[in-house]
Order: sequence, then C-alpha cells, then structure tokens
Amino acid sequence: MEPFLLQHQSYLTIESWVKQFPNLIAGITTKNGGCSKGSFGNLNLGYHVGDAIGDVCANRTKLAELLQIPLNRWVGAEQTHDVSIKKITKADCGRGSDSYDHSFKGTDGFYTSESDILLTLCFADCVPLFFIAPDKHMIGTAHAGWKGTVHKIGRHMIEAWGKEGINAQQIFVTIGPSICGKCYIVDDYVINFVQNTLEDNDKKPYNLISDGQYSLDLRELNKQILLKAGVPDQNILMTDFCTSCDHKEFFSHRRDQGQTGRMLSFIGWKERANRL
Ligand SMILES: [Zn+2]
Repeated sequence: MEPFLLQHQSYLTIESWVKQFPNLIAGITTKNGGCSKGSFGNLNLGYHVGDAIGDVCANRTKLAELLQIPLNRWVGAEQTHDVSIKKITKADCGRGSDSYDHSFKGTDGFYTSESDILLTLCFADCVPLFFIAPDKHMIGTAHAGWKGTVHKIGRHMIEAWGKEGINAQQIFVTIGPSICGKCYIVDDYVINFVQNTLEDNDKKPYNLISDGQYSLDLRELNKQILLKAGVPDQNILMTDFCTSCDHKEFFSHRRDQGQTGRMLSFIGWKERANRL
C-alpha cells in the first residue's frame, strides 16, 4: 500500500506514521501552492537553485504555517551527496532555514530525539529516507542520491542510532518519492559502484537496457542496504510515487534537465503542549 497520502495540495504525509504518533509531522512537499515562477513553479523550497530568494522565503513561510512549526525551528543542510549525518539539538534550531549559507555544511542527514525541531532536506529525484524509533523518541531523515546510496547513508543512520542504544529491530524506515527505476538511466560508471554494494546472491536493482545503459531502481537498492543493516522487512515502507513520471506533483532534476525547484522532506515532533 502507498505510504504517502496527499494531505494538502502542497504536501504529502506518511499516513500510517502520523496516525500512529499524533505528535509526529513527517512527509514531503509537492511542487504546488507556492509563488515561484518559471521552471521553479511554483513551490520551490531550495535556496541554492537560482530561484528568487524572496519567493523561496515566502514558500517556506507558507509551509511553516501549514505544518504549524515556525521557520526558526527548522534545520537545513548543504547536501553534498556524502554520508555525513548530524545529531540535532534545540541549540541548532533555525540553521539553514532562512538561507543556504547558514545550513549545515557537508551534511546529508539529520536525527534528533528532541521535540519542536523540524529536520528538512531538499529533493528533486534523489531518495528521501525517513527514520523513526518510537521507543526512543528518535527521528531522522537522509538524502540518498546514487552516491549517498552506494556509500550506504541508510546504514550510516542505523549505525549512528546504534551508538545511541537503539538496535535496528526498533527502527522503522519509509522510502519516499524519488525517481523510479524506469526513469533513472545510468552508465557503467554508476553501475560499478552499485555492484560493489551487492553480494553474489543479491537481487540486482538494475537492468541493462542498451550498450552501457542501465535502468537503476535506487529505492530498491536503499531497501536492500537497510535490510542488510538489520532493519526488519516489515518495518520498511516504500513509495510508488516517481518524481519524474508525476510531472503534476513533483520537481524532477532529470526530467526538467537540471532547471527545476526542490521539494522539502520534513520530520519533527511537535511540542506535546501543542496537542492540548
Ligand atoms: Zn518514473
């Protein structure tokens, strides 16, 4: 079953998680309901893509109102397709929320156990990973393009949480809207890295489609990496939404040939007081 539900024209939520945990906010935005123009039309949330900064700020402010968590409680990352993951506390709140310059440098993942913090990352085809260990009030998110995937950012998150006393069986993961296997065509260079992550008996997440050209299912590869890191199969949800196929809902770096906006993944615990 599809884990993401369109809650509003501007965002989808991870339905079963937010139903189960009323304080949780978790999902990803669409491209709709904002004020950006042209190829950033119209809910671009990325500062670094050449859009008018004032429009991006207005879009972020609007989303903050929709999600009912102010911008000065968000954190954002530079995102360099690496595997560095930062633990976030209240002292970090606001960093990267109002400008790209202040975002966490060289960072592609966040986690926290504290409330009233919104962990955010930008996407347009790469795979958003969402993590939760409800027993420990821990949440996280990671950005897995092909580089982050083959360098196993998913496993890095599980290992970071291991050091916090959380074992992989306690962790639930949702793999979010991203480019599908049919739309994502790569060459031998990328496939060599993918092969290095696989063992002989593993199901191959790619198919040869012509000489030196392969279709690659990055979501499936992330799932395999998470399973090998010890996350139980029944704890992993995976979307069918493709950012490239679904041009009405999502930005796609590949489909839009690099000139496009960014969706925002988000996960956070609201303050308990907000429930009352
Ligand atoms: Zn597709």
